[in-house]
Amino acid sequence: MSSEWYGGAYFLALFGTPLKTIKSWSFSRLLDFEACKYRAKLKYLDRVPEPDRPLPPGKTEHANDRGTRVHTAAELYVQGGVELVPELYNYKVHLDTIRDLYKAGRVSLEGEWAFDAQWNVTAWKSYSAWCRMKLDAFVNVDDVSGRVIDYKTGRKHGNEVKHTEQGQLYQLAAFLKYPQLESLSVEFWYTDQPVDQLYSVSYTREQGTRYIDKFTRRAEQLTTATEFPPNPNAHSCRWCPYLNNACEFGVSSDILKAAKSPFIQKTKRKKATGMAALFEKRE
Ligand code: SF4
Repeated sequence: MSSEWYGGAYFLALFGTPLKTIKSWSFSRLLDFEACKYRAKLKYLDRVPEPDRPLPPGKTEHANDRGTRVHTAAELYVQGGVELVPELYNYKVHLDTIRDLYKAGRVSLEGEWAFDAQWNVTAWKSYSAWCRMKLDAFVNVDDVSGRVIDYKTGRKHGNEVKHTEQGQLYQLAAFLKYPQLESLSVEFWYTDQPVDQLYSVSYTREQGTRYIDKFTRRAEQLTTATEFPPNPNAHSCRWCPYLNNACEFGVSSDILKAAKSPFIQKTKRKKATGMAALFEKRE
């Protein structure tokens, strides 16, 4: 028996199986974890594949597949040599500008950015990679300023908080990656909507790097967690891929809809009145 094996067996006998943690994070992992820790466990620790879902009525592709297709189409268009797909017509003028800047060597596309737990830049596949993000486009405006661009398919309305936070993370990462930058803008291009819906926020280095503590705190909760309790509720479970399959705790929106129906509400009221009457009798 090798001393290495013996040492490992001794460790296990003494401390049991080491607790598993989710070692790295991205913005979407963080949202999953904060919405429901159990979902994060199924997805990132147990790696339970998401089951196939039926297409929504009247649709020919799922929203996330469409999002991937439109992102790829935008990337290829900026690189040059392909036509613009109809889904990106609203942003033709903007994409043409980025294409010219790309030709001039001022734009990086689909950048894979990774940081270690001390926010030092590291390689995407490094063991030390703690935080990862992919930026759709990053523009070096000049030596001291830049633009982070994120394409968004789907709705702007209702996603304002989520997208603002995502932008805060991206600009923080850009300031850390490029120490010469003094200012940055983060832009969300809502490609399904008119171009006046473009959302842009500007940051100075001082404003932008203030977010480091906030994201470190949130991310450390994720990367140090060893318990992953479910958080069943209408909001979290509604779009969860594990509802009605890998997760036994989920709340079906059908049940919630039913709970709100006039019939159920009436039955509940009747029951409550009956219970009250019962208590009155007992008193
Ligand atoms: S169905 Fe609900 S409780 Fe279950 S993993 Fe998904 S979000 Fe969590």
